[in-house]
Amino acid sequence: MRGHRLKAGARARLDIDGETYLVARIASALFVVGMYVVWLRSTLAVRDSQVYFWGMVLWVVAAGLTVLLSLTGARRNAKRTLLATLPFDLPALAMLVASTWQFQDPFYAFYVGLAAVYATVFKRIRAWMYAGLFVASYLAAHLTVFHWTLAFGAYGFVVVKAATILLLGWSMSVVMEQQVERQESLESRSREVVDLNRQLERSVAELQAISEISEVIHSTLDFDSVGPLVIDILQKVINIPAARIFVIDKATQQTLFSASKGLLGEGTYTYSGSALIAEAGLGQDEHFSCIELLDDNDMLVVFCADVRHIDALEPDDRMVLSAVSSELVVAVENSRLYKLTKRLSITDELTDLYNYRYLQQRLDDEIGRARRYSKTLSFLMLDIDDFKAINDTHGHRVGDAVLGELAQVLKTTVREVDMVARYGGEEFSVLLPETDAAGAFIVAEKIREAVALHEFPDEDGERTVRATVSIGLANFPVHAEDKESLLRAADDAVYQAKTIGKDRVRAPHIRMTRPGRPTAATTSPEGEFVS
Ligand code: GH3
Ligand code: MG
Ligand code: MG
Repeated sequence: MRGHRLKAGARARLDIDGETYLVARIASALFVVGMYVVWLRSTLAVRDSQVYFWGMVLWVVAAGLTVLLSLTGARRNAKRTLLATLPFDLPALAMLVASTWQFQDPFYAFYVGLAAVYATVFKRIRAWMYAGLFVASYLAAHLTVFHWTLAFGAYGFVVVKAATILLLGWSMSVVMEQQVERQESLESRSREVVDLNRQLERSVAELQAISEISEVIHSTLDFDSVGPLVIDILQKVINIPAARIFVIDKATQQTLFSASKGLLGEGTYTYSGSALIAEAGLGQDEHFSCIELLDDNDMLVVFCADVRHIDALEPDDRMVLSAVSSELVVAVENSRLYKLTKRLSITDELTDLYNYRYLQQRLDDEIGRARRYSKTLSFLMLDIDDFKAINDTHGHRVGDAVLGELAQVLKTTVREVDMVARYGGEEFSVLLPETDAAGAFIVAEKIREAVALHEFPDEDGERTVRATVSIGLANFPVHAEDKESLLRAADDAVYQAKTIGKDRVRAPHIRMTRPGRPTAATTSPEGEFVS
């Protein structure tokens, strides 16, 4: 019977219990019918059995209507059910009262009970109104019967009983009103608590996300790989399915960092004025929108997503995004510095070639590998001929420029896998992996010629300065068995090249002839490669 609960309307007062009400109605109907059967046999009990009969019929019809309305479910509304039965209840009760003797118990109790039910379901004024109708029905029943033949005290008693019905309706209604108010205030307070709780949960989630993102961002200096993670965490808090975040260098308009998730296209993005222009991919999506999250002196952080999501961002979301932006900017700056330091630590500033330290490291690695896999490698040591004279004639600045250009000449002359380094001063070196002495000689010759043919700029920018190099060549394992002997052999060879006239390539005199070591079959016993 759950579905048949009698419920008051939308802004209802307390519900009355449908089942109880139905049972009460059926029980009262059975009672009225039962009394009729009993009283028919007793001439004393009923004053007017015909009036009682019709009162009983109306009362039974009202009970039947209540059952019908509740069971069909068409009218579960308590108000409607009560209003539908009211036209039957009022005359039924009046007739039952009028048909019985004097104080008409138990039908007075029916009035009281119904007045209480109406006061429970209807609001104050209407509750009083229905109580008034019951009082009117009660008084009307007496007036039609008594014909002013009773003692004065008896009328007073009837009036008091009628007033009691009204009073009951009124007090019941007031109590209900207060209870509804209390319930409403409790509900609104509980709603506030739920809201606060939700806000608190959100704030905790946001703080957690910011802290997670900071941890991820600062866990590595080379944080390109953590970009998707950052977006992942962001997405969870701000609930956007596809988004992209950029850190842009304002001076160069280069994207220093970008991370994306979802369907937003790949592409090149440039920053122009205060607007981010998507050059490819994103630009084709008309629903796509970008907002600036942070604009500091050097960098700009831009967040892009579907325009609906951007518009729907709440102040809290924006706060999270800007907190993450600040972290990103710091992390990008750190990463930039780290990369710069890393680069500076292995490169020579003047020539942009690898420095002596890195050369040593690479030589260790390459010799180790060549030894493990029985491979060969060659090493060239270059020294600019009469460089002092260039400095003396044109000045140090021209000397520096010559060093810089010569570095470029070297780089463009050798293969990508070969490594050019500044050995120190005006000395350079080239590491040629997997290159035998004969191959190295060809490379050295190529370099020597390229340098000799190159015209370097003088102090006036005129290309009048010429330079030549002497190159010493050494091969592992032909001329050396380790790094130190390889460097020494190459250095000796340079010295020999200088001694016999400069601008030439020279290999060491000494040939490795230790058992088990390959010998340079292609070289002559003395001064193997000479140009
Ligand atoms: P050679 O090698 O043919 O025997 O004669 P050289 O004149 O080149 O003699 P040496 O190799 O001994 O001289 C090296 C000179 O290179 C000395 C120094 O002033 C100059 N030098 C070394 N490093 C730099 C540099 O970074 N810039 C400039 N401008 N000059 C440098
Ligand atoms: Mg030198
Ligand atoms: Mg020199």
